[in-house]
Amino acid sequence: MADKEIVIATGNKNKLREFKEMLEPMGYTVKSIKDFDNIPDIVEDGKTFEENATIKATAVAKALNLPVFADDSGLIVPSINNEPGIYSARYAGDHDDDANNAKLLKRLGHSDDRNAYFHTSLVGVKPDGEKIHVSGVVSGEITTEEHGDNGFGYDPLFYVPSMHKTMAEMTDDEKNSVSHRGRALEKLKTVINDWW
Ligand code: IMP
Repeated sequence: MADKEIVIATGNKNKLREFKEMLEPMGYTVKSIKDFDNIPDIVEDGKTFEENATIKATAVAKALNLPVFADDSGLIVPSINNEPGIYSARYAGDHDDDANNAKLLKRLGHSDDRNAYFHTSLVGVKPDGEKIHVSGVVSGEITTEEHGDNGFGYDPLFYVPSMHKTMAEMTDDEKNSVSHRGRALEKLKTVINDWW
């Protein structure tokens, strides 16, 4: 095992790149589960973002006998009972962004209370079970129609007042500077060496 080798429990290239950009300058070697073939099937049946990220990281850390990070994120809209929450990816259809966005707009109707936030839980687990958890949020408002073509998921409906645009109208760098995931990663940077 190389010194300071960390595995990210994601198949998503963008997430992997974000982890690499942050952790490699700090001396960590960052791999993804795509670099291994003995990854177990994981059922994410937790009730919170933190639980789901912990389930993922723990299962992979045990299988690979390496420290593993996993994240779990979603959109929370307080005026509609905190929907879609942990069900964000499959609110209307599994990873069907258009259907999910259409359902969200329908649920909100003409409501004036369109406050919302994205949350990310980032969890690291070592093979012995020692865990670290950081989180990040970004607040915004749900628009009444989609704006912008960048990003994914609920980005075209998520307006960030300080940036005067939706997340789908931001460049990658702009989004990373305000996003829930960007903020969680910034926090991780300050605590990872102590956990390690
Ligand atoms: P994941 O845990 O990062 O895979 O996120 C789960 C789901 O939450 C995604 O499939 C999206 O529907 C939603 N989501 C999470 N982060 C974002 C984001 O930055 N923009 C838009 N939607 C997001």
